[in-house]
Amino acid sequence: MTLPAAGPGIPLDLGYWSVMSENPSPPPPGQLTFAAPRRAKPPRHLADLSTAERREVVAGLGEKPFRADQLSRHYFARLTDDPADMTDLPAPLRDKLVDELLPTLLTPINEQTADRGMTRKTLWKAFDGVLFESVLMRYPDRTTMCVSSQAGCGMNCPFCATGQAGLTRNLSTAEIVEQVAAGARSMARGQVPGGPGRVSNIVFMGMGEPLANRANVLRALHRITDPSPGGLGISQRSVTVSTVGLVPAIEKLGEEGLSVRLAVSLHAPDDELRDTLVPINNRWKVKEVLDAAWAYSKKTGRRVSIEYAMIKDINDQAWRADMLGKLLKGHLVHVNLIPLNPTPGSKWTASRPEDERAFVRGLEAHGVAVTVRDTRGREIDGACGQLAAASKD
Ligand code: SAH
Repeated sequence: MTLPAAGPGIPLDLGYWSVMSENPSPPPPGQLTFAAPRRAKPPRHLADLSTAERREVVAGLGEKPFRADQLSRHYFARLTDDPADMTDLPAPLRDKLVDELLPTLLTPINEQTADRGMTRKTLWKAFDGVLFESVLMRYPDRTTMCVSSQAGCGMNCPFCATGQAGLTRNLSTAEIVEQVAAGARSMARGQVPGGPGRVSNIVFMGMGEPLANRANVLRALHRITDPSPGGLGISQRSVTVSTVGLVPAIEKLGEEGLSVRLAVSLHAPDDELRDTLVPINNRWKVKEVLDAAWAYSKKTGRRVSIEYAMIKDINDQAWRADMLGKLLKGHLVHVNLIPLNPTPGSKWTASRPEDERAFVRGLEAHGVAVTVRDTRGREIDGACGQLAAASKD
């Protein structure tokens, strides 16, 4: 792990307690939080708005609507973040538009890198001091941004560090988009080893339950995938929304006409165990979640991902592999096994390699496609389930 030098205005000495004081106390086991605490709203940003809304806002400021398109080109296409580079806008007008539509939403507080710089976790501070993280992962053939949809999470899965911290608030549309834009900027500027490049894939697998912040996540999906310069122009097929299984919200997502991939965090094939590992299962059972997933794949033609954290002696038995295989076989589905990543205070560990191999074989015996996810970013607490926005560095 290496820490990049602190840039101007980027203090790296934030203490543990000052960070934690912005976040709520841990929820009791099993308690779900759907309604995000009410807090002051982040300032309005271009990325909160559709192309038409941007023009309306600019017209409301007494300026020509095409100025909105110029701003969009700077933000979404050229990835400009320095107003001085917006030379096609006269200075006084530029300052006014930047004030109104491009406020600084996020400040990087800490950046940690691993895998020779190819994995980078950023700790962001929002306008109100709230903290959350995003992770950029560069591979030979693609670069994936793992983004947060909420600061904290209300879903309280006991093996996930984010869930243990509770829900602080929903992120706004622009706060979600800005994580992607920031990653795209560092790629475009050659700040990630491997030469200049682009962000090609997005996974909503950072902090938060995306379908519990549905309106903002939907708008962010449009901003991320709308063709440039209206949006960032990333293919819908390269975007994955991961959920604990909020059934009505999965159904609604299917009605949006998007072709984003759905990932379901299943972690157990039986209700008895899933009730404890993924507390939302007390509301929507395994069968209901899977039925919603199959309906989604039918509507979109997309293969559904089933996420399954491999927890030693808890959910990794051969009989559970067989049970899962039976539930999934014949469907448009792919299983992603995630060796459990360590989280503070957790009594669980990752499965033994031989049990993991047997689990894979158990699924394959039913003709179910399965891969084991790599553990990028583990040493910087940037892997699945480790994002807690509590920097002790
Ligand atoms: N709330 C959404 C988005 C988070 S995605 C969801 O649950 O799908 C993060 C993924 O990592 C989820 O599949 C989650 O269950 C999994 N995860 C959480 N903690 C983990 C851990 N300690 N080790 C491995 N995977 C974990």
